[in-house]
Amino acid sequence: MKITLSKKIMGYLLIIFIVLSLSGFILAQVVTNIYVLISVLVITFIIFAVMLFHFFDKYIKPIEKASWTMDKLLQGNYYARVNQEMNGTIGELSGKINTLAKNLSKLTIQEQIQAEQLSTIIENSESALVLIDEKGYIHIVNRKFLSVFGKTSQAYVGYIYYDVIDHEAIHHTVQETFLYEKRVKETFSITHNDEKTYLELVGAPIFNERKMLKGAVLVIYDITEFKHIELMRKDFVANVGYELQAPIKSIKADAEKLQNHTSIDDISKDTLIKIIYEESTRIEMLLDDLLILSNLEKDETKLHLRTVKTGEMIDDILPSIQEKAEKKDILISVEASREIEFTADEEKVKQILFNLMMNGITYTPEQGEVKLEIHSNGDNIRFKVSDNGIGISKHAIPRIFERFYRVDKDRSINTNGTGLGLAIVKHIVEVHNGEIQVDSELEHGTSFTIDIPKSQTVNATSTKRIGKEHSHDKQSSND
Ligand code: ADP
Repeated sequence: MKITLSKKIMGYLLIIFIVLSLSGFILAQVVTNIYVLISVLVITFIIFAVMLFHFFDKYIKPIEKASWTMDKLLQGNYYARVNQEMNGTIGELSGKINTLAKNLSKLTIQEQIQAEQLSTIIENSESALVLIDEKGYIHIVNRKFLSVFGKTSQAYVGYIYYDVIDHEAIHHTVQETFLYEKRVKETFSITHNDEKTYLELVGAPIFNERKMLKGAVLVIYDITEFKHIELMRKDFVANVGYELQAPIKSIKADAEKLQNHTSIDDISKDTLIKIIYEESTRIEMLLDDLLILSNLEKDETKLHLRTVKTGEMIDDILPSIQEKAEKKDILISVEASREIEFTADEEKVKQILFNLMMNGITYTPEQGEVKLEIHSNGDNIRFKVSDNGIGISKHAIPRIFERFYRVDKDRSINTNGTGLGLAIVKHIVEVHNGEIQVDSELEHGTSFTIDIPKSQTVNATSTKRIGKEHSHDKQSSND
C-alpha cells in the first residue's frame, strides 16, 4: 500500500511540476527578471508539494487503510484492524470498522466454540451416530459407531451409505426416513466374536429453513443389557408359573376329591387335608421369598442401618434353627466373637444366616453338623456357615445363586426348597457391599464365607441396583 501511495504522490508531483514548468515557460515571455520567476515557481511547487503530502496523509491514507481493512474482513480475516488514530468523519469510520471487525471475530470464536462443543458431544456420545446428506453421502460417523461397526472414519466419510455399511436394517431405516420424512425406529442385532449385540436404530430427517429435506441423522443405541433384562424377566415369570403350577394342581385335585367323594373315610380325608395344608404352605413360602426378593430389588429399598452386636444377633436366630436341627439330630455349633459391633441392616443379615444355616441342615444327612463362625476380618466382618453334608458338584456351583436353580430338582422339592434362598442371600450381601464365596466338596460338605464391611455409608448403598447374577460371588470346589 505504501508503494502505491508514494507512486500516486510522485505522479501528482510530476503533474504539478509540468504545470508549473509550462506556466514558467509562458510567464518567461512577459517577466523580465528570470530569477524572480524561478524563485516564485520553486516556492509555489514547494507549497503545492507540502499541501499534497498533507492532503494525502490526512484523507487519502486513512481511506486507503480503511478500504484495505474491509478487504481483509471480506476475505475472512476478522483480526484485521484500522490502526490509525484519526479525528473527524474518517476517525469515526475507522472506529466503526474496528467495532465491526471485533464483533465478527467474537462471533467466529463463539461459532468455533459451539462447533467444537458439538463435535465433542458427538464424538463422546455413548450412542453410535451417523450423519447422511440428502444424496446419501456420509458426513460424520462418531467414535462409538466405529467401535460397534469397525473400520476407520475414512472408510465411511465421503461414501454413499449403502456402499460402506453392510447392515440391511440401516439401509432400510435410511430409506424409510427419506421416504416418509419422519422419525423411524428399528431394532436389529449384530454378532461379533460370537457375542450378540442388540441395537436400536433411530433415523431422524434433517430439514433446512425452507423445510426441505437435507439429510438424515442415525442414532444407534446398544440395548443388549435391556434385552437380557427382558429375557430374565420372561424367564422369571415362566419360572414362577412353573413353581406354582404343581402345588396348585395338587391342592385343586385334593379339594375335588374331598368334594366329590362323599363316602371318603376319615383317614383319607385327613391325608388329603394334610397335603392341601403342606402344598399351601409351600406356596406361601414361595410367595414370601418372592416378596423378599422383590423388595430387595426395588430402587427405593432402604437399608435400615444400625449398630449390630454379634452376640445379640446369634441369640435371636439360633432358636428357630435349633428346632429344625433337632428334628434331624444335627449338631449346631457356634464359634463367634460375641462382642463385634458392625453397621448393617440387622434383619437382612439375620436372613442371610437363617437361609444358609437352614440350607446346611436341609442338605446334611441326619447326625451331621452345621457350624456358624463369626470373626473380624480387617475392616470386614466375616460370617462362615459350613456343614458336612452332601456338597455341591463343581459344575453346579456357578449356578446356585440363580433364582429357582436347584442342583437336584426332585430332591429339592422333597426338601420344600423354593430355589430362591441363595438368590436372596446374594442380593443382601451385594446391597451391603460385601462378597460371598462358596467352597464345596461332594459328599464332604459345603461352606459359605461372607465378608461385609463393618461400616456402611448411610443409604449410599441402600438404593444401589442389584448387579448381574454372579457379579460378586467367588466359587471354588474341591470335588
Ligand atoms: P433351595 O430353596 O432349593 O434350598 P437355595 O437357593 O437356597 O434353594 O439353594 C439352591 C440350591 O443350592 C439348592 O437347591 C441346593 O441344591 C444347593 N444348596 C444350597 N445350599 C446347599 C448346601 N449347604 N449343601 C448342598 N447343596 C446346597
